[in-house]
Amino acid sequence: MSKTIQKNLVVEKIITAQKTSDGAGVSLYRSLGSHQLPTVDPFLMLDEFKSDNPNDYIAGFPNHPHRGFETVTYMLAGKVEHKDHKGNVGIIKSGGAQWMTAGRGIIHSEMPVQEDGLMWGFQLWVNLPSYQKMKEASYQNIEPEHVSEIHLESGSLIRVIAGKSMGIEGAVKGIDTDPLFVDMRLVTEDSVSHPIEQTHNSLVYVYRGLIHIGDPDDSRLETVKQGQLAVLSKGTNLSLKAGKEDTGFILLSGKPIGEPIAKYGPFVMNTEAEIQQAIEDYQSGNLANA
Ligand code: MN
Repeated sequence: MSKTIQKNLVVEKIITAQKTSDGAGVSLYRSLGSHQLPTVDPFLMLDEFKSDNPNDYIAGFPNHPHRGFETVTYMLAGKVEHKDHKGNVGIIKSGGAQWMTAGRGIIHSEMPVQEDGLMWGFQLWVNLPSYQKMKEASYQNIEPEHVSEIHLESGSLIRVIAGKSMGIEGAVKGIDTDPLFVDMRLVTEDSVSHPIEQTHNSLVYVYRGLIHIGDPDDSRLETVKQGQLAVLSKGTNLSLKAGKEDTGFILLSGKPIGEPIAKYGPFVMNTEAEIQQAIEDYQSGNLANA
């Protein structure tokens, strides 16, 4: 057995989320999945939506299809109702998450339940390997009380959606890309070290305050602020330190798939021919029956 040498992850790139609009006119901030950063394998898109103005969210995301990947919704405030063509209905509540494996096809709507108040959450798109792109659709719905929470002595909180943090596993299971999805809320100037799989690609998106990433004794210490996404190098240890105010961020890590990506709107396949097939299947009403 050879001893593993710890290698600190460092920030390779910082992307500032850009304000855009999607669905029927929902205002959101896109970091990953934009022209500035099309993909970080296996992650395809990351949006943050945050507004207490109903005009920014009330139109929601009426019926639309997906094929070939997974959509993950995680709510910090507000409620979203999900309905699909199979008759599945559910509400994703504040603090809860939904991991939807679209596989060969889902046609669904994602609509706000409230008519006022704060709506705040994230949608992440995770790619599927080719052999799973046409599998039957499935869901993992995680109620807020089933999100694993780790309360650190410092007062900081780690909420684990998927993967393992501090020895605690998240509720989402059986995903081929072995994802880590954690919401970390560090109190003022708290420090945390987090192990990372050496082969995985990792991202940090800051939604509150700011975070310093990298070895504190190293010159490659970078500051990532609210509304920014950091693309990290590969490594085995992630060293994080909150700024002078409380900090909240999403840490993502996943096993790269390493396959070609053909992408058109809500379809993510390997080839253009498969995209054409997805469009035809959707238009002919066979998307989910293929
Ligand atoms: Mn959707």
